[in-house]
Amino acid sequence: MTYQVLARSWRPQRFADLLGQEAAVQTLSNALTSGTFGQAYMFSGLRGVGKTTVARLLAKAVNCTDGPTAEPCGVCESCREIADGSSIDVIEIDGASNRGIDDVRELRELLKFHPTRDRYRVIIIDEVHMLTREAFNALLKSLEEPPPYIVWIFATTERIKVPDTILSRCQQLDFRPVGTDLIRDRLEEIASAESFSLTPSAAAAIAGAAEGSVRDALSLLDQLRAFTADEVDDEAVAKVLGVPPLEVTARLIEILAAGETAAGLAGLREQLASGQDPSILYQEMGRTLRTLVYLALDPALVPTLSEAQRERLQPISEACGADALTRMLGLWLEHDLLVKDASNRELALEVAAMRLARWPSVQQLEAWLAGSGQVPPDGGPGPETGSTPISGGGAGPSVAKTQTSRKATAAAPRTSKPAPAETEEPDEPENALENENELEQESQRQNEPAPVGTDDLLTVAKADPGVVLATRILGGDVVAVRPDGKGS
Ligand SMILES: [Zn+2]
Repeated sequence: MTYQVLARSWRPQRFADLLGQEAAVQTLSNALTSGTFGQAYMFSGLRGVGKTTVARLLAKAVNCTDGPTAEPCGVCESCREIADGSSIDVIEIDGASNRGIDDVRELRELLKFHPTRDRYRVIIIDEVHMLTREAFNALLKSLEEPPPYIVWIFATTERIKVPDTILSRCQQLDFRPVGTDLIRDRLEEIASAESFSLTPSAAAAIAGAAEGSVRDALSLLDQLRAFTADEVDDEAVAKVLGVPPLEVTARLIEILAAGETAAGLAGLREQLASGQDPSILYQEMGRTLRTLVYLALDPALVPTLSEAQRERLQPISEACGADALTRMLGLWLEHDLLVKDASNRELALEVAAMRLARWPSVQQLEAWLAGSGQVPPDGGPGPETGSTPISGGGAGPSVAKTQTSRKATAAAPRTSKPAPAETEEPDEPENALENENELEQESQRQNEPAPVGTDDLLTVAKADPGVVLATRILGGDVVAVRPDGKGS
């Protein structure tokens, strides 16, 4: 027996089986139950969300020997023939290949005759927006005064291209993209019914890749079943979709979050050299970052994660913490358009990675500005001060935090260069103030110059009395410090 593709074998045969189109289905069911269904419908929406399926169901509903009914029997001759596309009274036309005026004229000839067997002659035109202007004009005449035994059903993925004169003569039903969870559940239902293996995370990945289209999801699943001999797992999905396995993105983020720029770039280059698409790699790293945020906030937010994936990601998530991860994700997403549109997408991806890798430095800088950390060892804003601890404020003006910082983030990501004094300083503002005062007193008592870094900042402030005391571009972030204590 030949294999029937899932999109066909699992095409819904009842309105109730349709996925995610409650509004459209409810409208049609009510109209059928009350006998007030229209003579022309316009179904619009994304590809593969059920427009043609509903068109056939509607044809069955009006022609079933039990009908018109919202629950066609599915076994009478009309129902069966419509289901397999052989009904003489239900005509399906592809608007893309029958788009001229002559095609519409032929159709109009058909309208003169009563249906051969059924109650209604149902004419379904798919991708109706492809018709020519002349064809639409010819169609309009038939829509203005249709014979009582005709039902038109038009389907389109681009309603905007259908003339208003046509639209206004149709009942319009909007088909929505189907939710990822609904698609995932349907995939798992199919796997269980057809007895093949499909891991929950693979089902979720397929559903996510289908972007709201059930048909796309089922086609992908067909492809994966053939590829894996019915053992569909994450690795197979990654291969077929061209996405890197989670291990790759997790490792890259782990390295970059630790500030290891060179190692991160080497990892990226290795992936790109093996033929990995930069946009997809970027997208998947963003997806992994989001999963890490979710894990840090509440693991229940990612129910589709397998045990192995959870074990891999949990330590990274815990090491970085929700706040840092959220900001890293924001930083990453800033590169979205750049990576998609760049003439050199590999370079754009590398720039995004480099910025992510500067993250520990940003955190150290923030800790320093907040008065609870040391000067970043790799040439932070306090120039050549080495490990001289600089208290926020000191004898100079109150040094404000950056636009993004609130409090020094204690939960820094695993960094290769941890600031040793970071945990020694208490985090409470009261204590920080006490320390400041002590330092100030001590400074006055000993009549010593203010710490070098602060002095330096003052010099800059005098040179530029505007607002910016010191600025530093750190991994693309402009960190500004104002003498008036306000962040920039
Ligand atoms: Zn029937």
